[in-house]
Amino acid sequence: MARVYNFSAGPAVLPEEVLKEAAEEMLDYQGSGMSVMEMSHRSKVYDDIIKTAEKDLRELMNIPDNYKVMFLQGGASQQFAMIPMNLMKNKVADYIVTGQWAKKAWQEAQKYGKANKIASSEDKTFSYIPDCSDLPISEDADYVYICENNTIYGTKYKELPNTKGKTLVADVSSCFLSEPVDVTKYGIIYGGVQKNIGPAGVVIVIMREDLITDTPLPGTPTMLTYKTHADADSLYNTPPAYGIYICGKVFKWLKKMGGLAEMKKRNEEKAKILYDFLDQSKMFKGTVEPGSRSLMNVPFVTGNEDLDAKFVKEATEAGFVNLKGHRTVGGMRASIYNAMPKEGVEKLVEFMKKFEEENA
Ligand SMILES: *Cc1c(COP(=O)(O)O)cnc(C)c1O
Repeated sequence: MARVYNFSAGPAVLPEEVLKEAAEEMLDYQGSGMSVMEMSHRSKVYDDIIKTAEKDLRELMNIPDNYKVMFLQGGASQQFAMIPMNLMKNKVADYIVTGQWAKKAWQEAQKYGKANKIASSEDKTFSYIPDCSDLPISEDADYVYICENNTIYGTKYKELPNTKGKTLVADVSSCFLSEPVDVTKYGIIYGGVQKNIGPAGVVIVIMREDLITDTPLPGTPTMLTYKTHADADSLYNTPPAYGIYICGKVFKWLKKMGGLAEMKKRNEEKAKILYDFLDQSKMFKGTVEPGSRSLMNVPFVTGNEDLDAKFVKEATEAGFVNLKGHRTVGGMRASIYNAMPKEGVEKLVEFMKKFEEENA
């Protein structure tokens, strides 16, 4: 068996320990005589799995009691509609557009009301986070929306926007559990888990209770009403049961590693190795303004498309896979999520050094 260093943006690398445990439990989960994939989501065994997952997540993120945790489906993309359908009472929302995912969310919200783009970094190919200290927040805005870590462009908010008292909604798909957060600053924190937590198919939504309404916009399907899932503790219908089980294992792994403060420290160390190299390299250049750099997704280029392609090809052969940049930006991107060991980043940098020498 040979595992590669997988720099995919998502679905992405998972902790080896978690995968091994899941493999051991595949045929017989803790004496139940069946795999988690085969059991009823209403069984006592499964109830334990989902409740423990929620409890561990609450502990990790220090989630206050007045926030609900929901395990949903439909990908992060479904939230682009679900958020306005449930929150747009005044039919007005403000969006900060810092990349493709924020843009898609903003475009989707336009179906349901007036979605204002109050700031954007598109003028410089989304290579920075705009100053959000004094934005023209709409007086009647139901919420202010951000994508906190921009997976494709490799930018991250270092400070949350000043929403002037309005509810903050954040897509944290690609920075979920990468560092401690103050949940009380948000109305909704949500993300697809396939970037930094678990397998595709699960979306986690952490939502302040007073925002959960039983009067979403007319026509909102039952399944797209947060209250449906909040009231049923994510068991209104069959949840993505196996995915939640793996997420639960990752939460345990994170706790064992020392929690989110420790993950932040490790992620900073890993990212520094790569950024320090990029900053001194004559061949490779980071594409993001230093003040907006993500700890999770690191895009870089050589400035020469043929050389980029050669690098990706040789890196793949050497066991560093999925380094090709997003199809819309080109170049390279190394995603270095929680489960990427420091050694993986060190070895990648060694490889880049060697490539630079050989191709100078
Ligand atoms: C990947 C990603 C999405 C889309 O996720 P799906 O689960 O594929 O819908 C949305 N937002 C961000 C920040 C992402 O990284």
